[in-house]
Amino acid sequence: MTALPPQRVPLRPAGDDAAAGAPLIVRVELPGAGYDIVVGRGLLADLGELSRAVGAGAGLLVTDETVAGLYAEPCRRSLQEAGCQVALATVPPGETSKTLAVAERVYDACLDAHLDRGATIFALGGGVVGDLSGFVAGTFMRGIRLVQVPTTLLAQVDASVGGKTAVDLPRAKNVVGVFHQPSLVVIDVAVLQSLPEREFRGGLAEIVKHAAIADAEMLSFLQEQAASVLAREPALLRQLVARNCQIKAEVVQADPQEAGWRAVLNYGHTIGHSLERAAGEWDLGHGEAVAYGMVAEAQLAERLGLAEAGLAETLQGLLRALGLAEGRPQLDVGRAVEALRHDKKLQAGRLRLPLVPRPGEVVLREDVGLEALAETLTEAFA
Ligand code: NAD
Repeated sequence: MTALPPQRVPLRPAGDDAAAGAPLIVRVELPGAGYDIVVGRGLLADLGELSRAVGAGAGLLVTDETVAGLYAEPCRRSLQEAGCQVALATVPPGETSKTLAVAERVYDACLDAHLDRGATIFALGGGVVGDLSGFVAGTFMRGIRLVQVPTTLLAQVDASVGGKTAVDLPRAKNVVGVFHQPSLVVIDVAVLQSLPEREFRGGLAEIVKHAAIADAEMLSFLQEQAASVLAREPALLRQLVARNCQIKAEVVQADPQEAGWRAVLNYGHTIGHSLERAAGEWDLGHGEAVAYGMVAEAQLAERLGLAEAGLAETLQGLLRALGLAEGRPQLDVGRAVEALRHDKKLQAGRLRLPLVPRPGEVVLREDVGLEALAETLTEAFA
């Protein structure tokens, strides 16, 4: 079970002057691979100096076509001004770029730019660019330096922290990858202003997940400040993103190679994934599915007497205030149950399922059967 660790970034309401200010630094301590996550506004302009300070230098800036048009130039300028020459590799936006074929194109760009073992890959973009570039950085010449510059809310609070990298195969997502920790993560919350609304709300689902499993104070704060969060108030985002990086870092530090405890980050994802797979032609985003998943998993925990009464309602209230988990998703529940039965994390008909007994705490249960999950799924979404 997690206890609330001390000294998290203070959460101040929107409008409080103390909420604005200098960048916040979250340190990730790992054996032989500690690194800083620097969170602030306007930090793309400091990318060069920040990178130089950790020994990162010339190399390749990888991004997608959408992000390239918005933010590649300020990054390149900053790196150049700090004396770091970078070539640019651009991939199409979206999950379809997380493939071995696209990775091969990025390896080619590394060769074209004459990258050697001392070079750095800068990953500028959402989780797709982060996972793909991280995979290339972790394997090119058996591993070169990586700097993550995440630009979606999901990548800022989740994907850029923790060193998991991967590409997809046609038959399975995220099955080819390496653990490769970045040397630095530079988070500029100003870039969130250009993020499409659905992407932004999808990232909020992961923030609610972190609050549910590890931070009761943040859960109440989000409820109080929901309107300002949705308005993307920059000072609020700076502290929220930093606080979420702290939570992710705490879990990663406890389990760097995902041997067990890191599974707590899958809260809401077991049912969420099954909903995503069942949505078919209906458009259901990952964050939207996880939001429904968290509520359903809370209902299950309450039904089994493993969570305090009212938890599901609390989570649902907060998610709705943030524009998530509203109404019922359109999907084929039979297909969702089928997807659940084929969950890749299933062992002998059982899952290691994270459940939240009360806000801010999480337990890993191995005694919740598939049938109970399937029943919850049917009850909640049929
Ligand atoms: P994404 O990278 O596809 O980005 C979503 C869209 O937003 C893209 O079209 C992108 O071009 C656009 N975009 C990015 N930043 C923008 C900005 N600032 N302004 C305007 N548009 C912008 O999607 P995502 O949700 O960031 O990441 C999803 C991926 O992350 C999945 O492949 C998932 O497997 C992976 N992931 C990895 C980890 C990990 O620990 N490595 C954790 C969670 C998710």
